[in-house]
Amino acid sequence: MSDRITHPPGSIDLHTHSTASDGRLSPTALVDVAADCGVRLLALTDHDTLAGLDEASRQASQRGVRLVSGVEISVSWEKRTLHIVGLDVDPAHPGLHETLRRIQHTRQQRARAMAERLQTQGLEDAERRVAELCEGEQITRTHFARLLVDAGLSRNFQQAFKRYLAPGRPGHVAVTWARLGEAIGAIHAAGGQAVLAHPLAYRMTGSWRRRMLSDFCEAGGDALEVCCGNHDPGKTRTCANDARRFGLTGSVGSDYHGPHQHWLAPGRGLRLPPDITPVWENLKF
Ligand code: AMP
Ligand code: MN
Ligand code: MN
Ligand code: MN
Repeated sequence: MSDRITHPPGSIDLHTHSTASDGRLSPTALVDVAADCGVRLLALTDHDTLAGLDEASRQASQRGVRLVSGVEISVSWEKRTLHIVGLDVDPAHPGLHETLRRIQHTRQQRARAMAERLQTQGLEDAERRVAELCEGEQITRTHFARLLVDAGLSRNFQQAFKRYLAPGRPGHVAVTWARLGEAIGAIHAAGGQAVLAHPLAYRMTGSWRRRMLSDFCEAGGDALEVCCGNHDPGKTRTCANDARRFGLTGSVGSDYHGPHQHWLAPGRGLRLPPDITPVWENLKF
C-alpha cells in the first residue's frame, strides 16, 4: 500500500460523514467536494451504518478517488460513549451488519424518547419532524440540533448541545451502545482496521485517556486518529505520543460533516508525523 500511494498533505482523509448519518452532503456530493479539495484516499465513515458506501464508491471511481469502506461505531465504555472507526471493512459482512443493526435499533428507540422529552421543552411535533429530516437514514443528535435551531430554541448547534442534548441536559437520553470488544471484533471479522476516533474529544483526564487507550489495545484496537480536522499542532503531538507509547498505527481524519462547518474541509491540514506508521499501509486494495 505505502509504495502505491504517496501522502502529500491533504490528500488523505479517513473520517467523513454523508446524509447516510449526520452529514449534510449526499455520498456523491461528499466525494465531489473531497476530490475538489485534492483528497485521493477517502474513507466514508457514517455513524453506525454502511448505507452510503455503494453510492460513494461509484462516484469515487468517476473522480479518481480511492474510497475506503468505513463506519464510525458508537461504543459504550465506562459509562461514556466512544467512537471506533472501522476502515476497509467488507460492506457485506453479516456479523458487522448484525452489530450495526442492534445499534440502529437503539438509535431509533433513543430518538423516540428524545422526541418526547424535547416536546416538553417546546419542540413541537418532534418525532415526525426528525423522521422527516433524516429520511430513513440514521437518526442522530445532530438532527435534533438542527430542529432546535430551526425552531428558534437554540441560536446554533453548540448551544443546542449545551442546553438540550449533552449528558445531563433535558433532551439527553442515555443508552448502551456496543461494547468496545464487540465493535473491534466486528470490524476485524469484516477484515478492517479499528481506529480510536478523535481521542482528545472525550473530555477526560490524562489518566482516564490512558485507561481508554490501554483497554482499546487490550481489545485488539489497531490505530489512533493522530491528526484530526480541529487539531492544533499541540494536540497532534499529544496523540502522536500516545500512538508511540501504545504501539498503535496512526490515522488522519477531518470528521467533515458538510459545508456548514466552514472551518473544516476534507483533507485540509491533515498530516501524520513522519515516524508514526500510517494505518493506510495496512489497508488492502
Ligand atoms: P449521536 O451519535 O447521535 O449521539 O450524535 C453525535 C454527533 O453529534 C457527533 O458525531 C457530532 O457530529 C455531533 N455533536 C456532538 N457534540 C456536538 C457539539 N457540541 N456541537 C456540534 N455537534 C456535536
Ligand atoms: Mn457526527
Ligand atoms: Mn465521532
Ligand atoms: Mn465522525
